[in-house]
Amino acid sequence: TLGEDQLVVEGLSVNYGRIEAIRDVSFRVPRGAIATLIGANGAGKTTTLKTVSGLRSVRTGSIVFEGEDITKVPSHKLVQKGLCQAPEGRGTFVGMTVEENLDMGAYTRKDRRTAAYRSDLERVYGLFPRLQERRSQFAGTMSGGEQQMLAIGRALMSRPRVLLLDEPSMGLAPKLIQQIFSIIVEINQQGTTVLLVEQNAAQALRISDVAYVLETGTVVRSGTGADLAADDSIRAAYLGGD
Ligand code: ATP
Repeated sequence: TLGEDQLVVEGLSVNYGRIEAIRDVSFRVPRGAIATLIGANGAGKTTTLKTVSGLRSVRTGSIVFEGEDITKVPSHKLVQKGLCQAPEGRGTFVGMTVEENLDMGAYTRKDRRTAAYRSDLERVYGLFPRLQERRSQFAGTMSGGEQQMLAIGRALMSRPRVLLLDEPSMGLAPKLIQQIFSIIVEINQQGTTVLLVEQNAAQALRISDVAYVLETGTVVRSGTGADLAADDSIRAAYLGGD
């Protein structure tokens, strides 16, 4: 069941120099939801996500997380507050082992090496048994899919209440894509709100409580995942018409 709005983005505009990457973007993420931003290449999905997670600065607009204005809060502070974006693709520490990477994910926490830390590590290993099998392997020698899992696992170690994921299915084989989507659902069912950016719109809408369509830097449609997936114009534009 969905709660009140946990994340509220209002009138967000972001520039790269003189180029306006997103303009007047507004959306809401209810507590407990899986929310998704879909859109074509260059629509502004990544920029929006990076701005929410404090990695880009805002030109105009506001971002409110659990009632607190976080528009100007840098990303490491947001991680402490409970909002964390998994590093993109293979953004793992290649020279460290899997477990050292997970340990780094918990760096902002004061309870490392305690029971709470152990139980979060167990949670991550429960979601990704492969990471447990490979816990002493260097991250740089893991496959693309495994590194993707590690990136998500590392973010989970900061115990986020909102987890931001930028194209977690990118570059994965079809079977692994299915697996990643079911793991995202499982993470959400364990109580973490998820804000997802996906090119893989059909699968993303299937698991989304709410979704927003970005077109040339602005939100043009919103609805439940099921509503948008059933919409003819959305199907034609983003779901390959099938
Ligand atoms: P994709 O799915 O292709 O990753 P996206 O929807 O995530 O696309 P963004 O990466 O957010 O889109 O890009 C939005 C716009 O901002 C695009 O026009 C892009 O060219 C531009 N842009 C992104 N990053 C930069 C940058 N570092 N410098 C200049 N322009 C940028």
